Amino acid sequence: MVNPEKNTGTVNFIARDRDGNIATGVSTSGWQWKYPGRLGDSPIIAAGNYADNRYGAAACTGRGEMAIRCATARSVVLYMKMGMRIEAALAEAMVDLQSLDDPYAAGMNIIALDRDGRPAAATNRPGATFIYQSGDMEKYTQQPRMLVPDPRGASGFLA
Ligand code: ASP
Repeated sequence: MVNPEKNTGTVNFIARDRDGNIATGVSTSGWQWKYPGRLGDSPIIAAGNYADNRYGAAACTGRGEMAIRCATARSVVLYMKMGMRIEAALAEAMVDLQSLDDPYAAGMNIIALDRDGRPAAATNRPGATFIYQSGDMEKYTQQPRMLVPDPRGASGFLA
């Protein structure tokens, strides 16, 4: 049974075809009890998702106000453009989020794909995972996300 007080369910998706075209998809925000009219980061290109065939792509879940303020998805792609490996780019974007002065700092999660099709993901919530599958794999695999703890202790969805 779904607890309406604890609804989440926003889904991030990144796909890359054999020609190197990359696309992101983010479902509309699954956050419960949103203010009427609140958009969140999900549909905002650069905040909730961003793709550029030349460098890679990223998409976010978590407290959208933070991803909007940091342009988080675009930041990950920009850091890869600047030469960072995908893990370093993700870590840098998580640090950007941590430096925000935000009384509602909360759980943040990012998935990313580099231009060569290498996936990685980051979170500030221990135990979070992500799923990926490439064309030569029979089945998807579920991997742990790189943990970048928030020094403020924020990790719950509404922590
Ligand atoms: N990022 C979404 C928002 O802030 C929430 C979510 O990831 O579920 O609207």
